[in-house]
Amino acid sequence: MSDAESPPGVADTDSPAGVGESSGFEPEEPNTGEAFEPVDVFPDSDDFDLRPGADSCYKCSACDTSCPVAEVDDDFPGPKFQGPEQWRLKQSEDDYEVDDSVMDCSNCMRCDDACPSGVPLSQMHNTARGEYVSEQLSKRSVEYWRNRLLANYRLSASIASKVPRLANFAMNFGPARWLMEKTIGVTKEREFPEFESETFREWWARRGGAAASRERARESRQRRGEPADADKKVAYFHGCYSNYNSTSVGKSMVRVFEEFGYEIVVPEQKCSGTPMFANGMLKDARRHAEVNVSSMSDLIEQGYDAIASCTSCSMALRQEYPELFDIDGIDEVARHTFESVEYLRIHEDLRGELASTEVDGELAEEFAYHAPCHARNQGLERQALELFRELDGVGIEDVGDSCSGISGTYGWKKEKYEKSMEIGDEMFEHMEDAEGDVGMTECPTCASQMEHGTGYDIRHPLELLSAALVE
Ligand code: SF4
Ligand code: SF4
Repeated sequence: MSDAESPPGVADTDSPAGVGESSGFEPEEPNTGEAFEPVDVFPDSDDFDLRPGADSCYKCSACDTSCPVAEVDDDFPGPKFQGPEQWRLKQSEDDYEVDDSVMDCSNCMRCDDACPSGVPLSQMHNTARGEYVSEQLSKRSVEYWRNRLLANYRLSASIASKVPRLANFAMNFGPARWLMEKTIGVTKEREFPEFESETFREWWARRGGAAASRERARESRQRRGEPADADKKVAYFHGCYSNYNSTSVGKSMVRVFEEFGYEIVVPEQKCSGTPMFANGMLKDARRHAEVNVSSMSDLIEQGYDAIASCTSCSMALRQEYPELFDIDGIDEVARHTFESVEYLRIHEDLRGELASTEVDGELAEEFAYHAPCHARNQGLERQALELFRELDGVGIEDVGDSCSGISGTYGWKKEKYEKSMEIGDEMFEHMEDAEGDVGMTECPTCASQMEHGTGYDIRHPLELLSAALVE
């Protein structure tokens, strides 16, 4: 753990300190940890049992019609087959092998949302994919090593960020991109995200870490007329992109939370595991999850809540971890994990604060907003729209409920690139039809797809909150 102290008191998320008037949006079940009991489809993967979930399927095909991959790929059999049907085949045939089409599922999790019967589809897909990769996919294949490289983005990013200028040049040098496509099947069509010259964690340490945050938060509480010892403490899960590529998101999060009087700690952490789930690398994901759960549960015991600025990271910690792994403290971490803006909306009068402010300068823009699929799964697809639509100086427009098509690593694979762009077409069109020419979303990979498809600059809601409330 970093420089976090162990201040007394526990922030009770049900009876939060510093609660303002309701912002109007209160997710019915803001924390999904309890709603997803660990169960499992495939017997070898762990000790879970997914039978009740599989038996609930009544073959309505709502999942299939919601699947963006099935819409553009005639060979993909769809979520109903990947989930309950394959589970039944596995049960009835001893030597049944997982169908390799499970690797074509992008793990967007839209089918979870579409199923009226609560079948744990993405959990079934993740487990089946894990079994396919561990038992059937050749460890000598280019596909295995390409997927492993993409899934372990944190490792490559940590190396590249040591020499950011060289990495930015080399990764986007035309012949190097061509070579990567030819040799390992990473598409040459996309530009690699730029690495910042100073990571978020380096910035955080240079700024004084948790001790400086505590001081700033106390000053804010004093200014806001709140008790100096109010229990407002959060542990930030920044994820890979906010640390290496889009550090302004992490910095905005720090500034906004401190402005509301929250003391922040930035604990030791690894990748959330999102790209590993999507590539069937469950052993890698578990290794990372163990570190994250251990760090976060220590802090949760001290009264902190975990917050993430990336909706896929919050999704992993609150849903995928307890669905896939049995790790000490995992349910508590899931219960105490929130997406960052969601957390402020629950605990603070964000709308009231925004009503008395105006944005000018760089972010006084009309935004074309895309809700990431993983934000939809957490019931967060309306929050940026509801927050910002009455904010003076800006406009915000929803570009619809389609998938961006990149789904983390899916759109980086050479053979998936065209499909990824086809899925994203509807979103690109709606962005171009929207009033503004700046995009907004909470997911860094959706942001890169939005930028790639339209050429727009893309911002995170936290950056706009910071411009409105702090700067
Ligand atoms: S997770 Fe997304 S891509 Fe995969 S089966 Fe479900 S809807 Fe289709
Ligand atoms: S939506 Fe649910 S109930 Fe309907 S076919 Fe898919 S898994 Fe079965």
